Amino acid sequence: MRGHADGRAVSRADDLWRPRSGCGPWCLPDPTAAGTGTGAGSVPVARRLGRLLRRVGGAQAVWRDGRWWYVPLPDGPPVDEIRATDTGQVSWWRRGTLVRATEPPAPSWQGQPIGYATCPDCVPGTRLRRCRCLLDGDQDCRHCSGAALEPSEFVCTSCGDSGRVPEAVTVTLTDLDGFAIHELWRADHDDPGVPVAGWPGGAPVLRLDRRYRLAERAATLGVRPADLVDADGGLPLHRDLREGLVFPDGTTVPALVRFVRKAAAGRPGARLIVAAVRPVTPPLAAVLRLGAGLGLDVAVTVTDQRPDPDQPLREAGRWWSVELVAPGTPDERISPPGLPSVEAAVGFCLRMLDGAVHAAVPADVQVPLVVPQMPRPDADPWIGVPSRGVVDPTVALLRLARHYPDRFVRVRFQADGCVVGLFERAGWVPVVRAAGLAAALGALGLRP
Ligand SMILES: [Zn+2]
Ligand SMILES: [Zn+2]
Repeated sequence: MRGHADGRAVSRADDLWRPRSGCGPWCLPDPTAAGTGTGAGSVPVARRLGRLLRRVGGAQAVWRDGRWWYVPLPDGPPVDEIRATDTGQVSWWRRGTLVRATEPPAPSWQGQPIGYATCPDCVPGTRLRRCRCLLDGDQDCRHCSGAALEPSEFVCTSCGDSGRVPEAVTVTLTDLDGFAIHELWRADHDDPGVPVAGWPGGAPVLRLDRRYRLAERAATLGVRPADLVDADGGLPLHRDLREGLVFPDGTTVPALVRFVRKAAAGRPGARLIVAAVRPVTPPLAAVLRLGAGLGLDVAVTVTDQRPDPDQPLREAGRWWSVELVAPGTPDERISPPGLPSVEAAVGFCLRMLDGAVHAAVPADVQVPLVVPQMPRPDADPWIGVPSRGVVDPTVALLRLARHYPDRFVRVRFQADGCVVGLFERAGWVPVVRAAGLAAALGALGLRP
């Protein structure tokens, strides 16, 4: 049995075909269940569906516009399925289908459909993308040999492989707890943006009106801009989208048009849902103790990127990664800082905990497993100081990051102390080894 996206279904076959348009006489609003949705209204819903089922093969209740609509599902055309089996034989069977006899009225809250154009930068269903030579003006392109299309392993940035470039995007900003703002950003408004940065001699980076800067709405929901995440996947919201930035792309397409297209690219229904929720995670010190208990190293990488108007692509702010790794794991295999808050990095680390523990199991069966330990309650060997709040590792790490601005700084907490390292052109270079983080800061002449 399968239901429609906004309703319930009772059926004896598996498929619901595309609904026919228009609302016929069988499409009945329920005068008794308005406003209830589920729960108390479920008994009359079942009764009404049962009544319809006496006449047709299936029935569906659709909750729309604050009331139930009942739709009969008569038999549709059967579907023949033929499949080759592993033994080389062919199996055949006929599957029954149901179709909606009629469609409930369109919801009153539904706006105009969002139009779209076919993506000019890819061939849908293939890996072919518009070749970069079209921008460069390269006549003898070695990538496409003049075909203007080249195979690529990456998702099409113009349409997210959907093949469509929408004319607008519906943006929902929500705290996932009952509060939501919905807005429609159309590409036909007039907002040329103001120049905010750019490469010397190049076209400027433009910043759109406040309406398009989600970062400025974060405070109204009680969160930091870094806490805005794409509800589809949970990744931090892209900086350009958060700040209303549009980078030059060598074309004359207006800034707002490019901004809206980018916001909508690859999103079903051209809909962007932004969750504004401050991550609730244990403190970083708890991860250090967890690493100690499991016999794993904890690598905390942080960077304090300063704003630089001459490098508009680089995003200013503090970036983090927290990772539990097996002792001896090369630093090059540990993630660079990519999350905008220590809470987000700790949350990600804990979501990956099972993988980290699994990866730490020795491949050699002769090597014994580490027995999990309970760290002593009065001392924290991983930060080298008593655990009752003398040094907050987060504060100490930020102190380190400030001391090395614009650099990747990593503190690797190991069984016998910690190593502070910096990322250089040739790779990770240790700067100081110490019994704990406080001692490391002391060795660098920094006050913990
Ligand atoms: Zn080319
Ligand atoms: Zn495309």
